[in-house]
Amino acid sequence: MRLAENSHVEKQHSHHKTNWPTILFLVLSPIGAAAGLYYWIASGAFNWWTIILSVVMAYATGLGITAGYHRLYSHKAFEATGPVRWLLVLFGGASFEGSCWEWSLDHRDHHRHIDGDMDPYNINKGFWYAHILWLFKKDPTKKERQKGPDLWKDPLIRFQHRFYIPLAITFTFLLPMGIAALWGDWFGGLFVAGLLRLVLNQHFTFAINSVCHVFGKQTYSDSHSARDNWFTALFTYGEGYHNYHHEFPSDYRNGIRFFDWDPTKWLIRGLSFMGLAKNLRRVDAETILLKKQEMREKHLAQKLERAPGLTDQAEKLLQATRDKLNNAKVELQVLRKQYHKVLKEHQNRSEENVRELRKRLALAIRELKQTMARWEEQASQVYQMVAAHA
Ligand SMILES: [Zn+2]
Ligand SMILES: [Zn+2]
Repeated sequence: MRLAENSHVEKQHSHHKTNWPTILFLVLSPIGAAAGLYYWIASGAFNWWTIILSVVMAYATGLGITAGYHRLYSHKAFEATGPVRWLLVLFGGASFEGSCWEWSLDHRDHHRHIDGDMDPYNINKGFWYAHILWLFKKDPTKKERQKGPDLWKDPLIRFQHRFYIPLAITFTFLLPMGIAALWGDWFGGLFVAGLLRLVLNQHFTFAINSVCHVFGKQTYSDSHSARDNWFTALFTYGEGYHNYHHEFPSDYRNGIRFFDWDPTKWLIRGLSFMGLAKNLRRVDAETILLKKQEMREKHLAQKLERAPGLTDQAEKLLQATRDKLNNAKVELQVLRKQYHKVLKEHQNRSEENVRELRKRLALAIRELKQTMARWEEQASQVYQMVAAHA
């Protein structure tokens, strides 16, 4: 079996060809952007309108990737109306990261085969491989093997893939150039809001595949390399909470706390508020909390291995709260089942009943959070005991 698997992998690698156009683009674009920026400033053309345009373009194209390519098409974390889908995909294309179809297929492979041979940006092949070097080779047969029928049946996806280059050139270069020409700065529009913005956006996206698989916390799972990194979230329109994302990829949020910097989540919620997006998928609070607690328990057990004499004492301290957490979880599951059952009874459902169940759910979640906070307190006592013991 192992042999068969290996020969399959080797066979797949034999299809890889050096991707010269991409290499040239990735090497020359930062040089062109730096030279353009230098000339723009040296010639005295600097102006704030072009800077504002660059930031707007960065957000439009960045959110096109994160909300459109990533959360909408790769993960189906929500549904959007036609005009929203068109805008997201066309502006996403202005990051020159390939068509939404190719991008999503690669990204689905990344989730499916994380850290393995079939992961296109496998971090085990090195930081720079995951960041950019993986793009230097391409496997032309790969897309034929797995077409992603759900994606391909969407006419927008087929259209963008077919006319990718002219569309990308229009939205990356011609659009900002035309807009900045309105205040007499077509050069700044082309080189600052176009090329420089593109280079920065590309490396911000690449950082999710490199930085977020090396630096940060494994809050929810250590069964894969993805990490939560709030600093990267600042540049990546909220995609830095990557450990959460790999654990719960269908959630439309990446940063789940209200203060987590996740403009993509705010955009999606805003669209839903305006009736332009629906069926926003989110993981239940209890599932998230308990996954986090499981990970913390694992970490605690590793700590206790260094002080085996304290195990009994720690167990005594934590057991009652653990039991309470489990009870709260079971209670929540029962409530949720009841709630969904009532919601399904379209005609006969009583709104009062729905409101009542919603209230009980909110209360049960609050109680679970309080119990979790108590567990955290007790766990930090155990950490202190271990530190004192050492
Ligand atoms: Zn990842
Ligand atoms: Zn993803």
